[in-house]
Amino acid sequence: MPGRFLCDRMLLRLARWLRAAGYDTTVAGAGDRDRDILADAVREGRLLVTCDRGLARHRYADGTVVVISGDGLSAQTESLQHQVAIDWQHAPLSRCLVCNETLRPAEATAGASVPAGVHGPVRTCPTCRRLYWAGGHETRIRQTLASLAAGGERGGA
Ligand SMILES: [Zn+2]
Repeated sequence: MPGRFLCDRMLLRLARWLRAAGYDTTVAGAGDRDRDILADAVREGRLLVTCDRGLARHRYADGTVVVISGDGLSAQTESLQHQVAIDWQHAPLSRCLVCNETLRPAEATAGASVPAGVHGPVRTCPTCRRLYWAGGHETRIRQTLASLAAGGERGGA
């Protein structure tokens, strides 16, 4: 399965968790037409993750479209895991959750200001300049990824 995803706009939270796990995940633009979204997914070698059953009936949908059922993040991650092998510990926190950019060391980025009291490596997003470091927020994200991974083991195989 391709380790790259394109989520529809209904699945923004799911998209962020895929990014948190380290998967290259884009989100469809507002107002994009179904056939354009599907064409983007095919061109970029992404699995199209959508709530829209209509998309799955499309001519080029075979092998490209995964239809997600359920409301809320846990139902959606479960639905995804039933159809695609997701490793939630793939490369945790290697991408910006907002932009999908690969994070770089903050020291190498001009203008990145690291908050006082932060120790250890700080990474930054080259696009939005958001900073990422091992701390409260990242710890919670890693815990959620770990519990998603544990749930996947229970649900899968
Ligand atoms: Zn960013």
